Amino acid sequence: MTLQWQHLRNPAQSTDGPVVDATTLGLDRWRDFPRDQMPPWNDYAEVDAVCATLANVPPIVAPHEVDQLRERLALVCEGKAFLLQGGDCAETFDDNTESHLLANARTLLQMAVVLTYGASVPVIKVGRVAGQYTKPRSAATDALGLPVYRGDMINSLEATAEARVADPQRMVRAYANAAAAMNMLRAFLTGGIADLRAVHDWNKDFVKRSPAGERYDDIGREIDRALAFMAACGVDDEALHTVTVYASHEALALEYDRALTRVVGEEAYGLSGHFLWIGERTRRLDGAHIDFISRIANPIGIKIGPGTSPEWAIEACEKLNPDNVPGRLTLISRMGNQKIRDVLPDIVDKVNAAGHKVIWQCDPMHGNTHESPSGYKTRHFDRVVDEVLGFFEVHRGLGTHPGGIHIELTGEDVTECLGGAQAIEDSDLSTRYETACDPRLNTQQSLELAFLVAEMLRH
Ligand code: PEP
Ligand code: MN
Repeated sequence: MTLQWQHLRNPAQSTDGPVVDATTLGLDRWRDFPRDQMPPWNDYAEVDAVCATLANVPPIVAPHEVDQLRERLALVCEGKAFLLQGGDCAETFDDNTESHLLANARTLLQMAVVLTYGASVPVIKVGRVAGQYTKPRSAATDALGLPVYRGDMINSLEATAEARVADPQRMVRAYANAAAAMNMLRAFLTGGIADLRAVHDWNKDFVKRSPAGERYDDIGREIDRALAFMAACGVDDEALHTVTVYASHEALALEYDRALTRVVGEEAYGLSGHFLWIGERTRRLDGAHIDFISRIANPIGIKIGPGTSPEWAIEACEKLNPDNVPGRLTLISRMGNQKIRDVLPDIVDKVNAAGHKVIWQCDPMHGNTHESPSGYKTRHFDRVVDEVLGFFEVHRGLGTHPGGIHIELTGEDVTECLGGAQAIEDSDLSTRYETACDPRLNTQQSLELAFLVAEMLRH
């Protein structure tokens, strides 16, 4: 309890020691640094007005929750827990519905049960949710020559010139949608959908319906027996009925994340989400994004692609986690299945040897994207699985902890990624290709991946 009240202390009333505020914490220094993927705002007076509004709204998450996540992630860092992060590539306002949020949350929980059993350690669940509304893009225009879609926080996916104009008011809509999503998740995750029995029953249903079900029958039965054993012993802890899912997004539109940052006590908390990450395209060490994220107390991540050097990774650790706090920094490798076994070992080895405490997480999605013959941006399930396998091999080889996975997924029956037990083919992609940006694993593919990773964790 004391922890929570401590966060309500108004720093301006503190009489001992020098004043700590946004200026002394350098929260706006990023404005002076080079910035990649700048949203093409036209009207900066409007941006300022919107940010002035957001600076006073109730935040999406609370500081004590951010601290709690960092403490739980410290366990991942020490090899005593596993981090499961997943959700849409890009959330949209239209799809911010009860059914979509529940479907995604349910899939994440189903995966978590399987992984918890496989790893025999707690699985920390983090959604790409309640703020994943901005996208970095590789070109400024799309195939039609229109300004590219940059996520619902910036412009609209609709393919007209007007809809693609960057509109600062969209930050207010993003905030409202994020608040509504977080409110719903908090309420529902203490209710029926988080009940371990129910989640396991859904998994049994998957095993029954999936063409690959037989393969997973064993783990399914083992979990069944474990649950029956606990019930027979009279174990009925609250932990079996409620779950915490934390919120995460890429900190890309810095105006938004800065406006939702609050100084609490001696620290700044980015309260637009519990966990914020910096993408592969915005991670330059002398740039705006790295400067901003270095100044908040949240657990943070950086995506590291195949061009990352061990020296770069070490410098990033020094800059982003100078006090070497376990749980503070996650390095999210997204190398592609053909490169991970060559590129990752040296990075892990040298960062480790330098004594930096980081969580190693595998994003097997972003290095494995290709265009299918029919023209869809897609990913093959086999390459996704192979990258995770490579990630486990690298860590087994070095004796380090494969701390987690970061997946683009949805709890809907979309056809965006190829393969899996359903054997989705190029000609199937058009059936339900609904993503606003990158292709996501559907429910079945996500669960299949979870069962495969559970096997990797056990061996
Ligand atoms: C993403 O996570 O959606 C993303 C754009 O990733 P990356 O920065 O690794 O390309
Ligand atoms: Mn993506």
